[in-house]
Order: sequence, then C-alpha cells, then structure tokens
Amino acid sequence: MGVVLQDPKASLNPRMTVKEILHRPLAIHDFPKRERLDRILDVLESVGLEPGHLWRYPHEFSGDQQQRISVARAIILNPDLIVLDEPTSALDVSVQAKILNLLTDLQREFKLTYLFISHNLTVIQYICDWVAVMYLGKIVELTKNERFFEIMKHPYTISLLSAAPIPDPKRRYEEKILLAGEIPSPINPPPRCRFHPRCSHRMEVCKREQPDFTEVEKDHSVACYLYH
Ligand code: SF4
Repeated sequence: MGVVLQDPKASLNPRMTVKEILHRPLAIHDFPKRERLDRILDVLESVGLEPGHLWRYPHEFSGDQQQRISVARAIILNPDLIVLDEPTSALDVSVQAKILNLLTDLQREFKLTYLFISHNLTVIQYICDWVAVMYLGKIVELTKNERFFEIMKHPYTISLLSAAPIPDPKRRYEEKILLAGEIPSPINPPPRCRFHPRCSHRMEVCKREQPDFTEVEKDHSVACYLYH
C-alpha cells in the first residue's frame, strides 16, 4: 500500500534529495541493491520527472512537481492500493488537472486501486468508479460514480450536492439546502444516526437506533431510516 498526502511540501523531507526520498522505501523493504537506481529512474520517468532532478531538494520544485515526487514515492514498491488524501487540494487549479491525468495514466499502467479522499465533487466525478459519502467518520451512502449525481438519496448527500457550485449561470438561483446547527465533534459524535441533530427528516427511531446499510437498488446502498 502507498500513500499520497494532501500537502506535498509538508510530506517531503526538506533535508533529503529526491534520490534519498525515493531510495528510502526501497532500502526499508530490502529491494535488491543493484536494481535500486534503475527502479528509481523508471519511476521518475513514469511521473514525468527527469534523471537530473535526482540531486535536487523538494523546495527547488513547483507544487505540481513536488506532488509528482510524492506519487513516485507511493508507487515505487509496486503497491496494489494507494490512498490519496486530497492529493490536488493544495495545488493551483491550473496544475490540478495535470496531476489527475497523471494519476489516471498510472492507474491504467500499473493496474492500481485508489482510495481517493476529496471534498471536491468535480474531481470525484472525474476520477472515481465508486463513491462513498462519509459523515463524521461513517459511510452513509455508497454507489457507482456514473449514477451518483442522479440517484443520491441520503439527506446528508443531498445537502452536500446542493452546496456544490454549478458552473452554469442560468442555474445560479437554484435553491440550496442549508443544514441547521454546527458540525458536532467527531471525537464525541451524536449517538445512533450521527446526522440526526441536523437532519430535517429525522424521526424518533433515528435517535434510538443506528440505521443499517440497506441496498436500495443494485450497486446503491444507503444508511437511513427513510429507506428501510
Ligand atoms: S436515519 Fe433519520 S436522522 Fe439519519 S439521515 Fe435518515 S432520516 Fe435523517
């Protein structure tokens, strides 16, 4: 398993060169010594960097290039799964697309599975096959991406989508769903349905019992008493 974190500046050791950063996982996992440099050069090429970059430090790169180094570090041991925690949110909008395209290319090339965490619904729509919506650390809705934006059912998901900006001036006055109250502390979440203090559909049962995950149709499950 590999991991790519949100802020490449903070996740790369400023005292290590790119070569040292990429060499470290290989050394820790006893990758054959004679093959290490070739592996580093291969991975560097896969993420669009050059051999000349090996002796530079992270601060000598742009945000886009720093995230490419993080991606190279994540794939260098041939993982099956990569956790990507908001990998584009710290980058300029102009370079976000480059990193997303790089990730989709690498996924195809190395047959990777991604667990992609994001608040950006447009990015999710672009990159994910399945979408799981979480509220206070619990998954409340799960479905395939291609239908997600049409068939969402959980009250939290509906409010989430209603808050997303729509790049269409004709639809600017569409009604938004504003949730009441504050977001509760994730350390001490509300009991039973965690969304019940803010849900306009709540019933007595929502405060007493935890809703199970129910398959409302093929490839679409919701944890909500409205659909039990
Ligand atoms: S279980 Fe009840 S409180 Fe929770 S989201 Fe569904 S209707 Fe709202």
